[in-house]
Amino acid sequence: MFDRNSRTDAGTSDWRVLGICAQMRDIDKFHPGDTRGQSRKIIVERAIAICKWCQVQRECLLYALKERQESGIWGGEDMSRLGGEEQRRIMQNLRLKNK
Ligand code: SF4
Repeated sequence: MFDRNSRTDAGTSDWRVLGICAQMRDIDKFHPGDTRGQSRKIIVERAIAICKWCQVQRECLLYALKERQESGIWGGEDMSRLGGEEQRRIMQNLRLKNK
């Protein structure tokens, strides 16, 4: 997984530096890890709410799907909750919107 706050390789992934989370100090809000129950729900909902305002939501989600991220909040989705079929459907929709 890349460091969302990294700006060293922005040339290959410019969208990263434009993400709202790249400006945040507490990036853990996007990686609930082993947190369970209501605490996890709150962390995930807050992160997804932030993503909805992010100008690179699409790029972020596409990257996460291509790189098969299995955890964390990316592009407004909780990757640990997405099954393979749903990932393919989202990927297809994102590609169709790009045409
Ligand atoms: S969509 Fe969310 S996780 Fe992705 S860059 Fe934007 S704020 Fe960060």
